[in-house]
Amino acid sequence: MRIINLNPDTDIGASAWFVEMEGHRLLMDAGIHPKREGRDSLPMYHLIKQAGLDAIAISHCHHDHVGSLPVALRYAPQAQVLMSELSYFLVERVLHNSVNVMKRQREELGIKEYPLFSHDELDDISPRFEGFKYNRQIDWAASPKSRAGFLSPTLEFYDAGHALGSAGLMVRGQRETLFYTGDVCFHDQSILKSARFEDVQADVLLMETTRGGRDLPSGFSRQTEITRLRQAIRRVVDEKRCLLIPTFALGRTQEILALLAMMLGEGELKPQPIFIGGLGRVFTEIYDLESHRTHRQYPNLQLREALNLVVLEQGQAQKMKLTGPRIFVITAGMMSENTAAHDLAIRMVGDKKHAIFFVGYTDPDTPGGRLRAAKHGQAFHFSSPAGDLTRLCHIEDFDLTAHANRNEMLDFVGQVGPRVVLLTHGDQAARNWFQQQIHARHPRIKILQPKPGEPVEV
Ligand SMILES: [Zn+2]
Ligand SMILES: [Zn+2]
Repeated sequence: MRIINLNPDTDIGASAWFVEMEGHRLLMDAGIHPKREGRDSLPMYHLIKQAGLDAIAISHCHHDHVGSLPVALRYAPQAQVLMSELSYFLVERVLHNSVNVMKRQREELGIKEYPLFSHDELDDISPRFEGFKYNRQIDWAASPKSRAGFLSPTLEFYDAGHALGSAGLMVRGQRETLFYTGDVCFHDQSILKSARFEDVQADVLLMETTRGGRDLPSGFSRQTEITRLRQAIRRVVDEKRCLLIPTFALGRTQEILALLAMMLGEGELKPQPIFIGGLGRVFTEIYDLESHRTHRQYPNLQLREALNLVVLEQGQAQKMKLTGPRIFVITAGMMSENTAAHDLAIRMVGDKKHAIFFVGYTDPDTPGGRLRAAKHGQAFHFSSPAGDLTRLCHIEDFDLTAHANRNEMLDFVGQVGPRVVLLTHGDQAARNWFQQQIHARHPRIKILQPKPGEPVEV
């Protein structure tokens, strides 16, 4: 089979993989680069202009995996878009929101190329989206007649436990198999249960390496981390301060809300409004509506009933009074410009009364990453609209990752037993760690780190 990494960056960037297996062509993921602007944020779709895609399969609805889907479809006028049934409930909301964000960036930052697609285009392509249950084999290739001599490969979605709808993709041909992990989590989170990859075996494994550069401190457990977070939240609220937890709208927001609901239920928190963003509310509603269809904990927990969720209106982050206690669980996780988390942080960073808790990954080149690295009492560059700020507020980090830890990933390689492993979705240090460790444990496995745009035959 032939595989091309279409991500323009060697870091996490924009996930998009072209796969040609037994004469059939599949695009796995159609992401967008969260740190780049305009067309530079797109995968290298020009490389597959003539390819004639049979289908596009989406691992999950985070932007780095789905954010350029409408653009990808311009290169695949016949292709259906296949995803898990839970992703199917989310995907249009995610993409319509992207249009709104890009329109705002066009106005505020003068990026003329935005929006890269329109609401109308989305409405035109949405009939081509199809949702499937986990663990069903799906025909995805064009009819066997059109590509004489081949029987179609199949596709199967495996629950990846990372965010609602997340899936690993199994592509089974007549002669060989490929498994793509997407983003995967091998431990239970507060809501979602861990990935169900137990019976996955494949000839070729394409795996994420997000946590490859990170060793867990001794004595670390998710449970102790949750306990530490609960205590820290209680302290801020008891002292009537404001707390900002910047999160991604899909996944981490609902995990944090579930934690707050438990604290409320157990009397650790008094009833009070929890401020969230508009998109966070939409996804929270879908988490609630699909709770019995999801492999999760507390299927009867309805976040919107358990909590008094208040949606921040546009511009409210700049204006509202910051007298505590107030809890904000809002986008964006990396505090990128033009988000409520960014605008609130500008007001909170310089005030020692306030607290900001990081509960997810922040790229060092983002406002959130720079704030996280800033020393107390020191000026640092936050963002171009905000300029330099001095950090006086209380900052704390909690490791509530929705990605598998590196030793779990390493064990997974042993389970899958592949001939070839391709490393992706991690920085150079993370990929190198996996390269060395896999080689040490399994010297016969061929390990590749395909460069942007470089086709590999496996
Ligand atoms: Zn993700
Ligand atoms: Zn990702």
